[in-house]
Amino acid sequence: MTRRGIRAVLFDLDDTLFAHRESVEAGIHSYRAALGGPLAQAEPAAEFARWNALEEEHYHRYLAGEVDFREQRRARARGFVAPYGIELDDEAAEAWFETYLGYYETSWRLHDDVAECIAAIAPRALGIITNGELAFQSSKVLGTGLERLIPVENIIASGVVGVAKPDARIFEVAAAHLGVPPEECCYVGDRLHTDAIGAARAGMLGVLIDRRGVATREQLAEAEAEGVPVIRTLAELPALLG
Ligand SMILES: [Mg+2]
Repeated sequence: MTRRGIRAVLFDLDDTLFAHRESVEAGIHSYRAALGGPLAQAEPAAEFARWNALEEEHYHRYLAGEVDFREQRRARARGFVAPYGIELDDEAAEAWFETYLGYYETSWRLHDDVAECIAAIAPRALGIITNGELAFQSSKVLGTGLERLIPVENIIASGVVGVAKPDARIFEVAAAHLGVPPEECCYVGDRLHTDAIGAARAGMLGVLIDRRGVATREQLAEAEAEGVPVIRTLAELPALLG
C-alpha cells in the first residue's frame, strides 16, 4: 500500500478525537463531590480507576450483545455504589447514571491536536467509526463542535451497522459510505486490536494513537508485525500520510 494514495481518513471518536477519559474523570469527581458523604471522601484516583473498570466491563458486554445500552448504564451505576452499601433498583440506577451524565457532559472537549490535524490532511474525505449508539456518539460530536470539521453524516456507529470494531464489516461499511476503497483509507484509533489492527485487517492503513505512552513492548511489536504505525499525537498524522 502506498501511503500517498490515502484519499480518506477515518477516526475513532472516544480518546482519539474526543477527550473521553478526561471528561469521565472530571465528571465522576464532580458527581462524587455533589453526592457528599463517604463517596465524596473516597480516594479520587482509586474511584476513577474503579469507574473506568466498570465502563470497560459493562460497555463491552453491551458491544458483545450481552446486555442492551440501558442495562450497561444501570450495571455501572450499581457497581459503583455497591461498596458503599447502596442498592439501586432499575429506575434509581437509571436516574443515578443520568445525573452522572450531566457532570460528564459539562466536561466534554476535543483533544487539542484535532483541528490542526484535520486542516492539514484536507482535502481528504473524513469520517468517524465508533462503537456505540449513533444518537449518543453524535451528541458528543455536536456538543464539541466537531461537526464543523467532520460531517455528522459520516459518523458510522456500531449501533446502526449491527457489528462493532474490530469486525472488518464496519470498516468496509465506512469505506463504502465515503466511496473510497479500504486500501485508500487510513483509520486512527487508540485501541490496538479494536481499532488499529481491526482496520489493518480490513485492508486500511490502521494507525494506533498512544496518547499516554502506555503501549507495552509486546503491543508495539504486534503493531509492527501488523503493519500498524504508532503515533503519540495527531500532529504526527499528516507527515505519515505524505
Ligand atoms: Mg477509543
